[in-house]
Amino acid sequence: MSDNKNTQGVSITILLPAGRLPLDMMQAAHDLAKQYGFGIYLSLTQNMRLINVPESAASHVKETLAALGANFKGPGKFPLPRICVGKPHCNLGLIDTEELSRKILERFSGREKTKAKFKISLAACPIGCAWTKNTDIAVTANRVGYNVYVGGKGGPIPQLAMRIKVKATLEEVLDIIETLVDFHDLKTKTKQRMYKLLKDPDFPFSAV
Ligand code: SF4
Repeated sequence: MSDNKNTQGVSITILLPAGRLPLDMMQAAHDLAKQYGFGIYLSLTQNMRLINVPESAASHVKETLAALGANFKGPGKFPLPRICVGKPHCNLGLIDTEELSRKILERFSGREKTKAKFKISLAACPIGCAWTKNTDIAVTANRVGYNVYVGGKGGPIPQLAMRIKVKATLEEVLDIIETLVDFHDLKTKTKQRMYKLLKDPDFPFSAV
């Protein structure tokens, strides 16, 4: 559960798989925001952050949203894939990114202690609106399958990701992500961006 303090209150961050905000949660967040006078920020990483929540109201806010199934951000949780809107909501979309995100989260749902600092992004076409070239692990769809990238990052010194697989099937994509996550776990004490592992002699993939 994430509730970062600032001078005007605390922040509470709710994870929204595939960026979907259930209507009952939206309604409750709206009602609570009016009641306690806080703001709502929809982040770039598929979550909803309640900002400037009065500290005295934080427990009630969290309990109310938890009762509706809210999953709060917290250490050790597998990262939600950041996705583009995909098929059928974008004319260029070749896949349903919500579905791919769900499959990835299902595959890794048993992992409770994921090491921090890597992100995943998914795009339904090669344009990569989910910043696929600047994400630790990224998947883009094309007409012959999926391409997989690793080691991208943003920040003050951005890094373009390295392509490690082309024309992958869905099962291959899931297996590659698992290999990368396992390698990250093996080589990381607490947190580490994936690009730092690209030069490791045991890194399991090469550029293609
Ligand atoms: S990556 Fe492609 S499919 Fe996804 S939103 Fe952008 S243009 Fe549309």
